[in-house]
This record gives sequence, C-alpha cells and structure tokens, in this order.
Amino acid sequence: MIDLKDLEYGELCDFLTGLGEAKFRAKQIFSWLSKGVVSFDEMTDISKELREKLEKSAHISRLEIEKKLVSKIDKTTKYLFCLEDGNCIESVVMYYKHGVTICVSSQIGCRMGCRFCASTIGGRVRNLTSGEILNQIIFAEKDLGERISNIVIMGIGEPLDNFSNVIKFLHNANNPNGLNIGYRHISLSTCGVVPKIYELAEQNLPITLSISLHAPDDSIRDSIMPINHKYKIEELIKACKEYLKRTKRRISFEYALISGVNDTAENADELSRLLSGMLCHVNIIPVNSIKEREYVSGDKENIRKFCERLLKNGINATVRRELGRDINASCGQLRRNSTKQ
Ligand code: SAH
Repeated sequence: MIDLKDLEYGELCDFLTGLGEAKFRAKQIFSWLSKGVVSFDEMTDISKELREKLEKSAHISRLEIEKKLVSKIDKTTKYLFCLEDGNCIESVVMYYKHGVTICVSSQIGCRMGCRFCASTIGGRVRNLTSGEILNQIIFAEKDLGERISNIVIMGIGEPLDNFSNVIKFLHNANNPNGLNIGYRHISLSTCGVVPKIYELAEQNLPITLSISLHAPDDSIRDSIMPINHKYKIEELIKACKEYLKRTKRRISFEYALISGVNDTAENADELSRLLSGMLCHVNIIPVNSIKEREYVSGDKENIRKFCERLLKNGINATVRRELGRDINASCGQLRRNSTKQ
C-alpha cells in the first residue's frame, strides 16, 4: 500500500481526486502527516467516510524510537530510529543560536567506502524512501515538542546515490503546508558524485551544497575516498563551480583533519590554491576515531594552525564546534553498535 509521505504535494492532490475527493483535502492531510499522526482517525477535521476510504487505500509510515541519547553538555539529541522493516538509522538534533538543526540519514548504510567513516563498513542495505527521510524530522519534532528549522543531509548514506527520493524529500520538507523549511536552511553533503552535482544544479534549489573534500590533492584523496578514483578533484571542483554559477550559493567544503594524512602546512597551502577565488567556506573537522579504523585526529593546536594558515591565504575557514561529545554524536556508530542491524 502506498505510503502517503512518499507522495509529493501535487501527487497527493491527484491521489485524492482519484478517490473522488476535492483537491483541498490534500492541504489538510499533508498538514496532519507533517504533525506525525499515525492513524487516519487522528485527522479530526476529515469526515469519517473519507478516513475509512483512506484507511483502505493508503498507509501512514512511522518510525519508532529505538534509542535516544541526550548530551548533558549541549542538549544534542541523538536518535536511533527503527524503520518498519526492522532496519535502524540515526538522526541527530543540534541546538545552535540560529535555530534547531537536524542531521538526517538518506540511506541504510552506504556504498561509498570512505576509509574513515563508520557508516560504510557494512555496505549499503537499501535507499531510504522520501517518506522515511521526512519521518526523521516529523518524529523528532513530535518527540521534542519543538520546531526544527534547519536540515543537514549529513547522516548515514550518500544522498546523491539516492537522488530522486532525496529531491522528493526536499520538495516535501519545503512545502508550506507541511514542515515549511526554507531551502536556504537546508544543506546537502556529498562525497562528490560529480554527474549528480550537475543534476542537482539543474534543479536550481537554493540549498547549500556541502562537499566532503578531506584532501588537497588526488593522491591523498585516492587513499581515503574511493569515489576519487572515479571523479578526480579537478572534475569535482568544476562541478562545484557550475553549481555556484547556477544557484549563487556559497559552497561549503568539509575537511576532516587526519593526523599524518592531510594535516600539514603544505596541505593547507595546496588546499588554498585549489579553492582560491571561489565563493566557498572550509569547515575543518577533527576526524572522529572509530574503532574499526586506525585514523586519529591531530591535537587542538595543529587544527588551529591549519585553520589559521587557510585564513592567512585568504580562504574562508572555521573549525567546526563539536557537539554532543559525550554521546558520540557523529553518525554511523550507534547503528553499528545496535544489535538489530
Ligand atoms: N555521504 C555524504 C554525507 C554523509 S557523511 C558525504 O560524504 O558527505 C557526513 C560527513 O561526515 C562527511 O563530510 C563525511 O566525510 C564525514 N565523516 C564521516 N566519518 C567521519 C569521521 N570519522 N570523522 C569526521 N568526519 C567524518
């Protein structure tokens, strides 16, 4: 049976007219779905007759909270959500001055194989549906009792490897009848699936594109990110420039500093040359050590030095503040540790 949350607003209108109903019902139903109702009976402004009709022809998907960890330091909240098929995914809610941000997963597992990442170790199980991506926001809002204003698609999975569902999700998250989250408040992070970056540019949605770059040259990037064997840095940067031209949105580059791999002054200079003249921002992240891998982060002093070197070279850069340190908030590890997977 069709999950109503997998339909875009226009498709929901068509679905209802197909049932012989008026189009405006879509507005009511879309709004109820966004509030996290789990049965049609909760839709109190809809006739019993229509509710019964819907019951027979459609499904409302839901997520169960399998585990919830709340940071005592900064309130960062990490959910392990259980999907209807028993698979688990992670979502993290972070509290910033500018609003409440959720980091959502786009796939169950990941097949990109980045060497430092916990989410990819078991490979990809399947793509998430657009409804399952949306549900992470809906059920986190419901549980927290507060509105989420920003989304980062930076959880488990490679969003550009699940392109059509992610685009559908973006449309629905933005829809004013539902969660109503502005595209400018949404970031999508990719390891660099180049052809899909062009496709995303064509969609012309003013979301922020975040590139997990992590290396200033091909030999380093080849050694830590298999995607680089397919699409070299030069092609990736070219695609970013096209994205920038289309959307006028500043590109964000993620750079996880890994001790002895990509963290020297020369690496900083090379990175500066690569990005010079581009409207962008570099987010420096201390690499998070995972037990399955040997990578470790440099010390605080080295991280600060790397950032300063970029700034001195005229590159816009900041060190990402770590949130939820006490609950291991970075993604992929909770799912790996859960017994259900
Ligand atoms: N597949 C997408 C989004 C998910 S990963 C992507 O690659 O961008 C989200 C971010 O976390 C990426 O920048 C990724 O490179 C980074 N990341 C993964 N494992 C990490 C680790 N152990 N330490 C620091 N950053 C990590």
